[in-house]
Amino acid sequence: MIALVTGGAGFIGSHLCERLLTAGHQVRCLDNFSTGRQSNIATLQNNPAFSLFEGDIRDAESLEEAFNGGVDWVFHLAGLADIVPSIESPETYFEVNVQGTLNVLQQSRRAGVKRLVYAASSSSYGFPEKFPTPEESPIDPQYPYALTKYMGEELVLHWAKVYNMPAMSLRLFNVYGTRSRTTGAYGAVFGVFLAQKLNGKPYTVVGDGEQTRDFTYVTDVASAFHAAAESGIVGEALNVGSGDHQSINRLVQLLGGEITYIPKRPGEPDCTFADTTKILAKLDWRPTISFEEGVGKMLAAIEDWRDAPLWEPASIAKATKTWFDCLGDDEQAQSTAGDAS
Ligand code: UDP
Repeated sequence: MIALVTGGAGFIGSHLCERLLTAGHQVRCLDNFSTGRQSNIATLQNNPAFSLFEGDIRDAESLEEAFNGGVDWVFHLAGLADIVPSIESPETYFEVNVQGTLNVLQQSRRAGVKRLVYAASSSSYGFPEKFPTPEESPIDPQYPYALTKYMGEELVLHWAKVYNMPAMSLRLFNVYGTRSRTTGAYGAVFGVFLAQKLNGKPYTVVGDGEQTRDFTYVTDVASAFHAAAESGIVGEALNVGSGDHQSINRLVQLLGGEITYIPKRPGEPDCTFADTTKILAKLDWRPTISFEEGVGKMLAAIEDWRDAPLWEPASIAKATKTWFDCLGDDEQAQSTAGDAS
């Protein structure tokens, strides 16, 4: 197959490119390098089956080039992540995550692609009421990142319905692994903690650290995308999770080191935990990397975070000020949300 991976130089995208190449497919990687990195794809570029298209999903010409000559599978992972910048610049998030997705869909229609798989976000569920959380759960985005990723999913499923596009969506739960981002905005916990560990600083644990996340290892996520492309599932959204959920305190225990506590953040659930019954039944997909194994892989690659920004309570307070200002009233919502059981 000729596979196009948008966001292919990013954290998850580069692992997916690698997997598809190993399976013998031709891979086109489209990336604007806003958060993607050359180093993520450096080894892939030696493979003659890999080609890089430097371009933006907001730009028609870039997309036309990437689709030129035909594409069989499209994996749409290009998008903007992170909560704070999405609150500060909602227009940009809309342009990239919504309009960009529309552009990819339209180009895919014109190209008559065989499959399109969209990378959606578990943050669409907001404060879930049920754990593990099934796909039918209410959608309740708490900030523009979550909203725009969900709008992208709605577009994908609508295109499947109206235009018979062979498209589906995967709702990813807390993906972690090697090559996760080491620069830029205050974001995912692993990058923050690994840089703190390298600098001998305490881990900035939010709240009491008893909140849990469904941490899903990136190579398992890449295999879910691959399985989705090979399947005939159309017009559906499936959860991709580890089958478990781990507390931040457990993560700290595995990483080892001191703790400093920082305030609980508004708009955040106490638990994310995917119900993976559907993906198991429909794609025969199951995760293979345990949390202990995944954390071990991160620790083995810890030098990759040597240049990552070092976050400390004061810089975190500053970086998250807009977040607290805009979402600060959510304590009520949080305290009425269901508990993990
Ligand atoms: N977290 C933390 N300290 C940090 C950053 C995050 O304890 O400096 C916690 C956070 O409260 C959440 C978990 O780590 O429970 C995962 O956070 P992340 O931002 O990676 O993902 P999300 O909250 O979007 O699921």
